[in-house]
This record gives sequence, structure tokens and C-alpha cells, in this order.
Amino acid sequence: MNALTFQALRMLADGEFRSGEAMARVLGVSRASVWNALHALDVCGIEIFRVRGRGYRLAQPLELLAKEAVCSALGPLASRFSIEIFDRIESTNTHLMRRLATGVGSGEVIAAEWQTGGRGRRGREWHALPGAALTFSLLWRFEQGAGFFAGLSLAVGVAVMRVLARFGVQQAAGLKWPNDVLSQGRKLAGILIEMQGDVLGPSAAVIGIGLNCRMPARLLERIDQPAVDIATVTGNAPDRNRLLAALLSELELVLTLFARDGFAAFRDEWQKYDVYRNKPVRIALPDGSTVAGTAQGVNENGALLLTTQAGTLRFHSGDVSLRLAA
Ligand code: ATP
Repeated sequence: MNALTFQALRMLADGEFRSGEAMARVLGVSRASVWNALHALDVCGIEIFRVRGRGYRLAQPLELLAKEAVCSALGPLASRFSIEIFDRIESTNTHLMRRLATGVGSGEVIAAEWQTGGRGRRGREWHALPGAALTFSLLWRFEQGAGFFAGLSLAVGVAVMRVLARFGVQQAAGLKWPNDVLSQGRKLAGILIEMQGDVLGPSAAVIGIGLNCRMPARLLERIDQPAVDIATVTGNAPDRNRLLAALLSELELVLTLFARDGFAAFRDEWQKYDVYRNKPVRIALPDGSTVAGTAQGVNENGALLLTTQAGTLRFHSGDVSLRLAA
């Protein structure tokens, strides 16, 4: 999708009909270019209706991300954030990590309509399409050093759960250690935190969140594990600007408390959301081996507790993956 395609998408976002001729005139291109731009939207899973004599319209109106809308939903808190929205970016985390070197402070936010190279943990891919998800990264600086952050992705998960509840995603939504939000066993959102700093501090965290809002079914099916979006769970696609504002304001609270008290302040709440508690699970280790046991929640640092035949073991997030036992 190029810049013209995003301009065409903006013109149609309200769900009203526009003729190809009028669009071509406003965009200063030929009707064939408009057709190509709209075809690119179709390919990306954004459904377009074409009606002879009336023109084009989106099958569903689309609220595009807009900084003014996010700031207005944030109210007075808007001054705590510096928000930049991209139509298209490789990865919001990568972009913000690069900006760290320029000395930007807490509250820097990069959001994107479309991440073309979204990342999960350990180089895994995060899939999204234009307008289908909320993908953004937030920079936060801390006085503490690296060892302090073991539970940060869990605390961020708590922030996401609180906001999802306000947007109607309540039932059967929960957290899977260390960084996934699930709804009825299907992945709804992912969290990727990247750190930079000294062992003794200070340090900076780039907190990336990808939240499926209304994903085309064929994209959800392509993901190599069960995945779902908010529209399927609640019956409605959320207003992504309000969702982003709600997440930023909740993250502000959570990160401020985390900086003071660490993960211990969130442990009880996290355990309420824990979808694997008391379930038989296996942990996949980096060398390919696995450890089987029963998940017993997390300790005050966010380490996963597993009861095994050899006793209770602790696992720190990073190089291990948690799965339900087959
Ligand atoms: P771990 O338990 O180790 O975190 P994970 O499979 O959840 O394992 P992540 O790095 O958290 O890994 O997330 C990346 C994975 O998420 C991808 O490999 C893919 O399986 C899945 N995925 C990618 N895009 C999406 C999406 N939009 N919605 C849901 N799941 C996705």
C-alpha cells in the first residue's frame, strides 16, 4: 500500500459513496490510478463495494487513527505524551528504539495504521493489516537498572486487561505468561518490551502492544496459532483512537506505580487473569528440551512458578515459552 492508497482510504473512511471521477479529481491522479489504489485496499482485506453510477464505498466505515482524536480522548493527560502516527511503518518498536539515542523522554508514542514488519519475541512475526489492529509503542524511562524489569510485561498485561474490560472484552479474557492476552484460548493481543540501559540504571523500556481490532478472517486463519479480534469477541470493532487513549492513560498509572513498587503491586491482580493457573503445562527451553509441571502463578518478580516432580521451579521470561500440556 502506497501513500495514494492511504489517501484514497481516508476519502472513503466515512463509509459513504464517492465516485471514481471525484476521487481522481481531488487526488490529482487518473481514474485508473484510483482503481489501482482501491484494488490494493481489497488485496489487504479492506472490503470495497463498487456500484455502477454511485462509485465506491467501504463495506464498513473505518475510524482511522488521528492524533487529535487520541489527544482529545486523553484530555489533560495529553500533555504527558508526544504522539506520532504513521500510515505505514516497519515496526513501531524498532522506530522508537532508534529514537532512544536522541534522548527523547517518557511518553513518546509511535502508532501505525499498518506495521509491515511487526515483531514478536525472539524474532517471531506479528501480523497486521491496515486499520485492522491497534499497533503502537510507548517509551518509558526508569531510574532502576535491568534486573528490576522482570515483571514489566506482566504489569503491562494488567493495564491492557483493565482497558479491555472497559471496552466490553471481559468474559473469558485473560493473560498467558509472560506477554499474551487471550480470549477463550485465542490470542487477542501481544506485548513486546525491549530495554536499553545500564545494569545499575537508569534504563528505558520500549513497550510495544499489538491488539487485534477487526482482522479479516483470512488473516486470522493464516496465523500459526488460534487468534481472535475484539470485533469477534464483543460484536463491535472498537474506536481505535479512544482505545489508544485509554491504554496510554492506564499505562501511565501502571508504569508510575511499577517504577515505585515493582511488579509486587500487580501480582494479585495478574493472578486473577492467569489463564493457565493450576493447569498442566510444559515449558520449552532454548536448547529444545521441555519441562512438564503444573502452573502455579507467578512470584513477586513475575517469575513463573511450576510444580514438578523435582519440586517447585521458577522461570524468568526471556528465553522460555509456556504451552498447555498436550
Ligand atoms: P511465547 O509464549 O514464547 O511468547 P508466542 O507464540 O506467543 O510464544 P510471541 O513472540 O509472543 O510468541 O508472539 C508472536 C507469535 O504470535 C507469532 O509467532 C504468531 O504465532 C502469533 N501472532 C502473530 N501475529 C498475531 C496476531 N495479529 N494475533 C495473534 N497472534 C499473532
